[in-house]
Amino acid sequence: MAKKGDYKALFDEALEELRVECGEDDYFIWLGKIGFLSASGPEEMQVSVPSAFFLTQFKRKFLARLQEKLSSLAGTTVTVSLKVDEDAAAAAAVASGQQPKPAEAPDKASAPQSKDIHPTEAPRAPRKQLPSLREDFTFDNYIIGEDNKYAAKAADVIARNPGSAYNPVLIYGGVGLGKTHLMQAIGNYIHFNSNLRVTYITAENFLNEFLEAMNSQKMNSFKNKFRYTTDVLLLDDIQFFEGKEQTQEELFHTFNALADSKKQVVFTCDRLISDLKKIPERLTTRFESGLKVDLKPLKYETRILILRSINETKKANIPAEIIDLVGKNVASNVRDLLSAFKNLIAYQDLTGRPITLVDAQKQMRDLIGSPRQPTMSIDIILKAVADEFHLSHNDLRSKKKSKNVVTPRHIAMYLAREITEYSTTEIGAEFGKDHATVIFACRKVDTRLKTEPDFYEIVENCKRKAREYSMRN
Ligand code: ADP
Ligand code: MG
Repeated sequence: MAKKGDYKALFDEALEELRVECGEDDYFIWLGKIGFLSASGPEEMQVSVPSAFFLTQFKRKFLARLQEKLSSLAGTTVTVSLKVDEDAAAAAAVASGQQPKPAEAPDKASAPQSKDIHPTEAPRAPRKQLPSLREDFTFDNYIIGEDNKYAAKAADVIARNPGSAYNPVLIYGGVGLGKTHLMQAIGNYIHFNSNLRVTYITAENFLNEFLEAMNSQKMNSFKNKFRYTTDVLLLDDIQFFEGKEQTQEELFHTFNALADSKKQVVFTCDRLISDLKKIPERLTTRFESGLKVDLKPLKYETRILILRSINETKKANIPAEIIDLVGKNVASNVRDLLSAFKNLIAYQDLTGRPITLVDAQKQMRDLIGSPRQPTMSIDIILKAVADEFHLSHNDLRSKKKSKNVVTPRHIAMYLAREITEYSTTEIGAEFGKDHATVIFACRKVDTRLKTEPDFYEIVENCKRKAREYSMRN
């Protein structure tokens, strides 16, 4: 018979069928408020209910029917024991697939009419952290400077008005710029300030769950999870859907179902939607149909704000000149910025004495010596390559097609690919080209490196220069 994890699916399926049979009203008030807890075998299932009062009523009205439904789906007699669980109740409170109307929900009759999630609307039983969300990815921990204040404001408005302010929302920007942090901050806020059910999933896991559901004939419970028992869907890294046709189809339907019932959907993508390949237009137009929030590499001032904040929360006492050193050198993205800084804090902890500027420079140099160096910017690479070939960096960015410019341009793209965290799309954008051109350039350089010792020498010189410049910067 079924595996342990399948009992939850069985339960979901039973609930979905009862929903159709009993109608939305009974579902909203009763069935939607129970939750699967555990099953010690196919014959015994533990199910949560929100209160003792609910338990008595539910037992009288629905227990027999629920057991019957489970038994017929399982092909064996299933007995359900009910257990009061206030926390699960909070999570299950809006399982109906609709925003609760105050009139239908007696316990919420006095809730404010404002669309803003308001603290008084919060569930009575405190909610636990959602396991799929990182608890440190909150608005409190998201540092706001001049260059990301629009993104932060937009996220804040979405979190306070799920499903009504902007829908869908697309957050896009390169690796490590804070897309997941901002998306999960929205999720954490909604989870702790409303009864809405938040589902966070990466595109990769969406695909995996979808394939698993297909293989084990559990499509119903997959559909239920995303279409009916989700009020807020957070789907991370949709670029992963490139070329995954079957999953795209399912996503399209999921998206439509959620949109129809005015549920909040947030996507992230590490590149421009127009740069996505092998995703049909009907889907890309969906992704872009709402609000677009763009995250860019942060300016020096905001980088310093972030470092100061970490310095304070970690009580690390790193001196201002070292904060400045890191802030100046690590421009690529926030992830690299944080890892460089945490590296220095760890060094200080290990040595047991305050870190000096010389220590920090040495540590940073070690970091830059590593094969993929996060401190390198494309500008520095451009400058190094231009100097090596006695050109200007404008030449490298220009559309000139003469050989004396094309080869250095290819080398610059190759080095950017090799030693920065930028994606080929982002590198392409720096040169006014698309990512295919960057990939072509990299291949070309790669082949020549293997066969032409002189060429190898030149590329190595460029690399060395870039390292020197990045340390001086
Ligand atoms: P992405 O999803 O865009 O690749 P993440 O959201 O994972 O990037 O962010 C990378 C790291 O940078 C995380 O540790 C995140 O907390 C941190 N981070 C990004 N932006 C900020 C910010 N504005 N303030 C504080 N931390 C940030
Ligand atoms: Mg991410």
